[in-house]
Amino acid sequence: MKLKNKSVLVTGGTSGIGVAAALLFAKEGARVVVAGRREAEGKAVVEAIEARGGSAAFCKTDVSREEEVKTLVEFVLARHGGLDIAFNNGGIEGEPGLTIDRQTVENYRQTFDINVLGVLLSMKHEIPAMLMRGGGAIVNTSSVVGQVGLAGLGVYAASKHAVNGLTRSAALEFAKQGIRVNAIAPAAIETPMLQRLVGGESEVTPQREGMASLHPVGRIGTPQEVAQAVLALCLNEFITGVILPVDGGFTAQ
Ligand code: NAP
Repeated sequence: MKLKNKSVLVTGGTSGIGVAAALLFAKEGARVVVAGRREAEGKAVVEAIEARGGSAAFCKTDVSREEEVKTLVEFVLARHGGLDIAFNNGGIEGEPGLTIDRQTVENYRQTFDINVLGVLLSMKHEIPAMLMRGGGAIVNTSSVVGQVGLAGLGVYAASKHAVNGLTRSAALEFAKQGIRVNAIAPAAIETPMLQRLVGGESEVTPQREGMASLHPVGRIGTPQEVAQAVLALCLNEFITGVILPVDGGFTAQ
């Protein structure tokens, strides 16, 4: 058990990558708080962890609202007495298919409020909690499109570029105080978000085949593969300020 009794917070823990990470953290012995807006999904994740003998609780949170993020961190502190690891993973894809000339203020605001402000507010409130115990590890969820563009998802891509900037800056600001801040940059991963983008779950559609073929390994990744990379970033004490691709070779091309 690599994280025995560590206090871990996972935002976006109600679905996809966040669920896989919450399950893995708990399997490694961590006490996990799962956050997201959907209560039933959050409680199902807690039940799944408890059924495997782990420790978890759900705290309903919209990461774009500062009061809710503050309450979330207070919830973690009240339950665990500290915070060691935070996986800031909650995010949305925004409205797909909009070229830049057709983008809307509404899509920009909603996407940036959740993907960028959500990560900023999460780190803002997590860092003081981590400093109380002399340090910690933060992993933010970026994307391969934090590094390259994506036609039809320009606002989403811009939001993930911003996550990279926040990640590197926070890493520099708190390096001397024992807080490491990294991000993962997944390519296409088999989650409800991807299924919304390629039309359907596990069906062989032209969009899905096209998506898989963009990766040198010839397939879409799994949430568990991303969760393993998150865990590795949490464990290695000399890695900070890194944006780690988890992408089947996508950004090597
Ligand atoms: P997903 O299944 O749609 O999960 C998204 C998660 O984010 C859900 O738990 C959702 O919870 C949460 N979330 C959304 N808005 C939120 C808000 N305002 N406050 C709190 N939580 C919020 O998608 P996923 O693929 O697992 O995505 C997880 C992260 O990976 C996202 O940041 C996404 O951009 C990134 N990513 C995904 C892929 C991919 O191919 N799947 C690739 C690169 C990066 P609620 O709805 O319950 O709030």
